[in-house]
Amino acid sequence: MTTAVVWFKTDLRIQDNETLIRALEQSDQVVPVYCFDDAHFQTTKFGVKKTGKFRAQFLLESLADLDAGLRALGSGLLIVRGKPEEEILKIVKSYSATKVFAKNEVAFEEQQTEKCVANALAKINCTLETVNTSTLYDVAHLPFAIKDLPDIFTHFRKEVEKNSNVRKVFAKPLCITSPNIPPMQLPSLSELGLPQINIDSRATIVFKGGESNAHKRLQHYFYETKAISSYKLTRNGMIGENYSSKFSAWLAHGCISANTIYEELNKYETIHGSNESTYWLFFELLWRDYFYFVMQKFGKKLFLKNGIKDLKASLPKFNEKYFSNWKNGATGVDFIDANMLELKCTGYMSNRGRQNVASYLCNDLKIDWRYGAAYFEEQLIDYDVCSNWGNWAYLAGVGNDPRPNRYFNIDKQAKDYDEDGAFRKWWLGKK
Ligand code: FAD
Repeated sequence: MTTAVVWFKTDLRIQDNETLIRALEQSDQVVPVYCFDDAHFQTTKFGVKKTGKFRAQFLLESLADLDAGLRALGSGLLIVRGKPEEEILKIVKSYSATKVFAKNEVAFEEQQTEKCVANALAKINCTLETVNTSTLYDVAHLPFAIKDLPDIFTHFRKEVEKNSNVRKVFAKPLCITSPNIPPMQLPSLSELGLPQINIDSRATIVFKGGESNAHKRLQHYFYETKAISSYKLTRNGMIGENYSSKFSAWLAHGCISANTIYEELNKYETIHGSNESTYWLFFELLWRDYFYFVMQKFGKKLFLKNGIKDLKASLPKFNEKYFSNWKNGATGVDFIDANMLELKCTGYMSNRGRQNVASYLCNDLKIDWRYGAAYFEEQLIDYDVCSNWGNWAYLAGVGNDPRPNRYFNIDKQAKDYDEDGAFRKWWLGKK
C-alpha cells in the first residue's frame, strides 16, 4: 500500500486542488497535514510581526473548515507545529509515506522552506512533488517564458487573453482514503503569541475563514445580490460589504481558487448577461496572476529597497515616529488616518485606501516602502506575498510600473472618492 502526504499551505481547499488530486491518483492513501511554521509568527527586521491576529484567526477558521470537509470524505487534517523540514519529515516517517505533495512557491522565503523540506525528504528517499495551484493561467501554458514576462501589465493581459486559456477546474474528489487521522487540535491565538480579536462594529465585512464560507461569499456577491453586475462602477468604494467582491481573503488562503471564481463568473454571465463589470472582475484577477508571475521572474529582488530598478536615490534616516503615526492612523491627514484605522481595527482596507496610504508613506513621509509592506503583511487578512510586495514595489516606483512616480494627491483623492466625507466620518467620528 502506498501512502502520500498532502502538505497544505495557502491552498486550504478540497475543490480544485491539484495537489490533492495528484496525491490521490498516485497513492493508495493520503495523509493531509498542515504545519504551523514557527517562522511565520516571528517579528521581522521591520519591527512588526509576520502574522497578526486577524489573519491568524482566519487561518484557524479555514483549517477547521478544511478538517470538516476532509472528514466528510473519510479523511481529516493533522496539525503540527515547528519547522516544516522537521515536522513534515516526522509525519512521513510515522506513516511510511513515499511521497509528499504540496503547492509550489515562487517567493524567496517560501522557496527556501520548500527546498529545506525537499532536502530533508531526499535523505530518506522520499520526494516532494509541487504543483502550481495559485493562478488562473498555468505557467506552462503562458505564451512566453517567465524570463520574457512583459514588464507592463497591459502587454501581459493582451498576450494571455489572446494566446492562452484559463486552466479548467478539477472535479472535487468523492472520497479520500486515509489512515485513521486523530481529531484535529488547533493552537489558540494566545498559543501562537497573539492577542484575541474584537470584532469592530465599523468593519465593512466580517471575514470568516474556510472553503465553505468562500463559496457562500461567491453565491452572495454573484447571485443573491448580483453586485457583480455593477462591480466596475462600485469597486473604488470604501464603505459597505458589496462595493467590491472581498474574495481576497479566501483567495490568499487558497480557500477558493481563482479558476473556480472564473468558471462561476462564466456561468453567471450565461444566466444574467455579461457587461463591463463582469469582465472587470476577471481583469482584476489577471492583476493577481501578473504579480505572481512578476515574483516568479524577479524573485528576491522584489524585497530589496530598489526592487527591480537600478536606482541610486537615497532616503532620509528612518523616522520611527512618522511610521508609528502612520500605523496608528495618527498622521493628522484624515483620509490616511481613516484608512489606517480600518486596517488596524479590522485587518482589511479597500484597494483605493491601500494605494493612497502606500503613496503617502513613500512620497510624503519618505519612509522605505518595505516598512509599509511589512506592516501590511502583519495586518492584512488577505496578505498574499506576491500581491502585497508586488503592489508595494509598484507604488514605490521600484516595481513593474511604466510611470516613474505614481504620486497620489491625497486631498484630491479624498475629494474624488470620499466626496461627502462619509468614510472619514465612519472611522474618525468627525467630518
Ligand atoms: P476586488 O476589487 O473585488 O478584486 C477581486 C480580486 O482581484 C481580489 O480579491 C484580488 O484577488 C484581485 N485583485 C484586485 N486588485 C488587485 C491588485 N491590485 N493586485 C493583485 N490582485 C488584485 N491583494 C491581496 O490579495 N493581498 C495583498 O496582500 C494585497 N496587498 C496590497 C498592497 C497594496 C499597497 C495595494 C495597493 C494593493 C494590495 N492588494 C492586495 C490588491 C488589492 O488591494 C486587494 O486585492 C483588494 O483590495 C481586495 O479586496 P477585494 O477582494 O474586494 O477586491
